[in-house]
Amino acid sequence: MKFLIISDLDNTWIGDDAATIALQQTLKEKRDRFYLVYATGRSFCSVAREMRNFWLLTGEPLLTPDYLITGVGSEIYHQGILDYHWATQISQQWDRNGVVQVTQKFPQLLPQIEPEQNPWKVSFCLHPNTKPAILNTVHEQILQLGISAKIIFSSGRDIDILPQTTDKGIAAMYLREKLQIPLNQTLVCGDSGNDLSLYQHGTRGVIVNNAQNELAQWYSQSGTANHYFAKSSYAWGILEAIDYFNLGTT
Ligand SMILES: [Mg+2]
Repeated sequence: MKFLIISDLDNTWIGDDAATIALQQTLKEKRDRFYLVYATGRSFCSVAREMRNFWLLTGEPLLTPDYLITGVGSEIYHQGILDYHWATQISQQWDRNGVVQVTQKFPQLLPQIEPEQNPWKVSFCLHPNTKPAILNTVHEQILQLGISAKIIFSSGRDIDILPQTTDKGIAAMYLREKLQIPLNQTLVCGDSGNDLSLYQHGTRGVIVNNAQNELAQWYSQSGTANHYFAKSSYAWGILEAIDYFNLGTT
């Protein structure tokens, strides 16, 4: 039976080139025995650019994923094509213009560049002098318009507003069900706040040692036996977890 790896890119799968190459070396030998999904906050174009740059820099290609979850779960791609079924599903009760209308009233939210925006995601950076508690007010005002949305805060700075029906974790479970991989043969990997939702669906999960405080704190309060806080950083931590959970040995 195949296993499934769903990994964040920045500061998890990539971030330490030697670690990425070592991890891929181990996995390459059994590439037909697992599915690979990258789940990232980046846009599709940004992932493509990053994959090209990694190859230019190291001479090694990043492993080709079977699926891509981009924009923090707002888009899913298979072989470069948007998953329209997913897009339709998350479009219910979503009103992007309504979200934009509310957020325009908050100068503390600095819009991210246009390529990082998409039809199911509105993204900002939090002004450095602002407390994240302001996001509660933003959320209340969005809900008052009858829009079903969630706000994800990550790396102490990034703000993504998405349909309530998505995040990395929900998108990951949609793919896991599609591929029919059991929970205990699924490993999720991440380092920051927007990865948190990945760990909440009963799969195995590794938090790499270089994790941001927001995720490390969540682990110390809510981590279970399904979760492993790696002793090493970046992709070394993923290697550790594959071993720890005996993935691919059944
Ligand atoms: Mg990351």
